Amino acid sequence: MSLIHYHRKRNFKKSNEPIGKIHYKTTHLYIIQKHAASHLHYDFRIELNGVLKSWAIPKGPCLDPTVKRLAIHVEDHPIEYGAFEGTIPKGQYGGGAVLLWDKGEWHSKDENPQIAYHKGHLHFELKAKKLKGLWDLVRIHSEEKNDTWLLIKNKDRYARALETYDILEAKPKSVISGKLIHEII
Ligand code: MN
Repeated sequence: MSLIHYHRKRNFKKSNEPIGKIHYKTTHLYIIQKHAASHLHYDFRIELNGVLKSWAIPKGPCLDPTVKRLAIHVEDHPIEYGAFEGTIPKGQYGGGAVLLWDKGEWHSKDENPQIAYHKGHLHFELKAKKLKGLWDLVRIHSEEKNDTWLLIKNKDRYARALETYDILEAKPKSVISGKLIHEII
């Protein structure tokens, strides 16, 4: 793991995003940030081997097991990023508002999450403020510039049909500030 790509893409004199470092103590951190960059998306991040493995989900997570949400694997982020909420200046990488949409723990259901990650199929439980229960994250393309996965809710007591409940609309606020995305400055 490495934060080289994360550091290269950013100018920390211009952006308040954390520089961060690699950590060696696991806290099972899971977060999602709602990010109003040039295209609104949700950044799904889980702690693995001292960094936050990260996926950009254009349509956000969905509690409906019949709905598979595209998740584009992006560069590792530092653990410190899990506490970040604020605005990345215009013109900087990812410029726009970042809202901490969900926060909690992820618990791998794989014998070895590192191997499962490299094989491209993570099975895990989320224990967080908004997302709960069992999920799969499955790789469908693994080319360097097209590292695409799917985030899929499992059928359990936390599953909900999208027709009747969209968690993105029902729970749009930040879990740390209570703000909506347009209130983040
Ligand atoms: Mn993003």
